[in-house]
Amino acid sequence: MKPIGEIALIEQIRREFPTARRSGSGALRLGIGDDCAILRPPPGHEVLVTTDFTLESRHFDRRLHPPESAGHRALARGLSDLAAMGATPMAVFLSLALPPDLLASAQGRAWLRRFFHGLRALAALHRVPLAGGDTSESPVGARGGPGLDNTGLILADIVLVGSAPSGKALRRSGASPGDLLYVTGHLGGAAAELAGLTPSSLRVKTPRNALDPSRHPQLFPVPRVEVGRTLLRRNLASAAIDLSDGLSTDLAHLCRASGVAAEVEETLLPLHPLLRRLEAPRAVNLALNGGEDYELLFSAPPSARVPRSIAGVSITRIGRLTKQKPDARKTGAPFVTLIQQNAVKKPLKPAGWEHFSTNSGHKSTLS
Ligand code: ADP
Ligand code: MG
Repeated sequence: MKPIGEIALIEQIRREFPTARRSGSGALRLGIGDDCAILRPPPGHEVLVTTDFTLESRHFDRRLHPPESAGHRALARGLSDLAAMGATPMAVFLSLALPPDLLASAQGRAWLRRFFHGLRALAALHRVPLAGGDTSESPVGARGGPGLDNTGLILADIVLVGSAPSGKALRRSGASPGDLLYVTGHLGGAAAELAGLTPSSLRVKTPRNALDPSRHPQLFPVPRVEVGRTLLRRNLASAAIDLSDGLSTDLAHLCRASGVAAEVEETLLPLHPLLRRLEAPRAVNLALNGGEDYELLFSAPPSARVPRSIAGVSITRIGRLTKQKPDARKTGAPFVTLIQQNAVKKPLKPAGWEHFSTNSGHKSTLS
């Protein structure tokens, strides 16, 4: 089979993402087809940009993640970053490097079609048009790469552009001692589902109700875009971050940026239903360190009226922020204290996803 060429592939992408052609609608003035896309943020808004690599065998495993899931997750990561800052998505850009086998075989092309399908379904849900990208063949080393059939790796880089009212975007750095700490949805589900994935999971398609992460929190996480927008609009949060790497790691980021410390109460953690079958210590470990839940973590002053649910998503108070010890930065003392079930306090070290871990590979290595 003749490999599909770059121009044909871009044509396929244009066909599969018809919203991209409707330039002129909303923020997108000009989409795929020219040297640049043209975007116009609403008056009085600033532009927010985030980029995320999705690398085969690092962020997904072709033997375990269905192609729809790989596409969905690539976009969900960027949408979750916009959500964390309360932004509204304007457009997405997709740069792809694909191994030759993917473009040359019927099986490979089917993988790509299903990848686009997963990405498109989530993009449609958030009304974010694919406005451009870049396409290249990924290099194959002398001995081949660790991809399927040992022929090379799929690399997808997503750029998301969003807008927020000028000066209002939620940041990691706005929290104060005394603020209360909240999370959306449930924790630990993505890691729990990952631990149970088998090649039979490849048959799972994008769930019809893609807004319901209760079934597939790992394969189809739901970015909390509407919650973030509401927090911004109602001026509820003093600081926010999305939980991509795990609560223990991401909360430490928020603390460092805000110059505060935090106390988390173990009994308040909203454990994902998939954790209920597990022994308590393992369940709590996954909720604290599992990562990839893409829920929002935010702080709010005690005077803020934080509702129990926003846009249909539950909001749970899990702890509070405290003063940082004066020498915390020098001594490297952890920012976060866990108040355990027995009321004993222990320091909580960041133990989530490590981007440059020596035991590199997919997160499925997490126990
Ligand atoms: P140039 O060489 O000027 O960068 P390209 O031939 O790479 O142009 O791309 C042509 C058009 O197709 C551009 O508008 C670009 O944004 C779009 N495009 C290329 N690859 C992708 C992709 N993977 N997804 C979406 N749009 C793409
Ligand atoms: Mg190009």
